[in-house]
Amino acid sequence: MKIMVQKYGGTSVAGLERMQKVLSRVRKGISEGYKMIVVLSAMSGETNKLLALAKEFSANPDPEEMDSLVANGENVSIALFSILAKSQGVKAKSLQAWQIPIHTTDAYMKARIISIDDTKLKAMLEENDALIVAGFQGVDCHGRVTTLGRGGSDTTGVALAAAVKADVCEIYTDVDGVFTTDPRVCSAARKLDVISYDEMLELASSGSKVLQIRSVEFAKKYNVPVRVRSTFTDDPGTLVTQEDDAMMEDLVISGIAYDRDQCRVTVYKVKDKPGVAAAIFGSIAKKRILVDMIIQNTSSEGITDMTFTVPRADLDQTLAILEEIRDEIGAESVQHDLHVAKVSVVGVGMRNHSGVASIMFQALRDEGINIKLISTSEIKITCLIDEKYVELAVRALHSAFGLDKQETAAC
Ligand code: ADP
Ligand code: ASP
Ligand code: MG
Repeated sequence: MKIMVQKYGGTSVAGLERMQKVLSRVRKGISEGYKMIVVLSAMSGETNKLLALAKEFSANPDPEEMDSLVANGENVSIALFSILAKSQGVKAKSLQAWQIPIHTTDAYMKARIISIDDTKLKAMLEENDALIVAGFQGVDCHGRVTTLGRGGSDTTGVALAAAVKADVCEIYTDVDGVFTTDPRVCSAARKLDVISYDEMLELASSGSKVLQIRSVEFAKKYNVPVRVRSTFTDDPGTLVTQEDDAMMEDLVISGIAYDRDQCRVTVYKVKDKPGVAAAIFGSIAKKRILVDMIIQNTSSEGITDMTFTVPRADLDQTLAILEEIRDEIGAESVQHDLHVAKVSVVGVGMRNHSGVASIMFQALRDEGINIKLISTSEIKITCLIDEKYVELAVRALHSAFGLDKQETAAC
């Protein structure tokens, strides 16, 4: 049995006309002899609507019930699409995650997939031409509905492809593939034909929402080549694959990413002694909050400051945790800044090239942009800057690293 997994994002399923386009692609797969697993997101705007609705009912909605709520966006998409497909003679069946089942942890709103039972899926594929699966959802050990974090349908798609050992895995979205940076921010962005898992991981973890980071982790772990392409054009898109397989372009930097979802927290005047960092970050980790950049100032008279970033949605909880352990760590005060953004340059070529950081810092200096924090990995450099300069920074860096489309002088 040849299996193709296709995932369609929110804009691709926003209404009857667009679903009809999706159905044409699904029928093409069937006509080529594939059994299709079609993963759908909620129609664009629906998840946001449900999240906002919950906030009207409570300022701090219970995460377990939030998942019961927001998973419904995807339920609507799969049911409507299956109604359409069946009405046109396609042997299709809709499936919510618990019906497969897709088992996840019980970290509501940011659950991780633990396992997918492929027995029922394969049996159902024998009897149907297309299984229409709700993205973004799972079921935990208590039998409760969970969700995989924003953009989680990508992860459902790739995880299903890995579970059934699909022959093809395609992620359909509203742009032609993975670009050197967000084409909506920089018109000189270029589409990449191929990108390595590692580079895509760094771009995704730095805020490029074209693929959810967990989906790339799955793709790399199970060696699933993923093609990112547009629902609305015939462009072949971008292949996300192993570095060796990729006919990588000879670029030091392959992409620029930004992330407006972070905020900065500084804990002032903590004791500079063993165990303080463990106390701070251990307490935060227990609540499953992802800390990103961390800087500890040099110590003066046994006292230091600790600065780090967390997702904005986790700020209140982070501040509450720090308040609880304030006496233990001897902190004088805690301050935060919501108006920050991360901008990152990513490229495997960085491993063999020096001077990337200085080009980045100079490009930001030339635009008068101040750097608040810096962090580096083997193939990434990230600066935290004032949020209001993020688009300017992306365009300046894109140009400084020679990524602009040839026909365009500047973004
Ligand atoms: P979907 O609803 O199909 O999952 P998303 O909105 O989650 O789509 O992701 C696609 C969007 O990602 C694009 O519209 C684009 O604005 C944004 N994006 C950010 N960085 C990149 C990049 N490097 N390449 C392509 N798209 C990017
Ligand atoms: N509907 C979810 C979201 O908006 C999941 C997804 O689209 O991938 O985040
Ligand atoms: Mg998405």
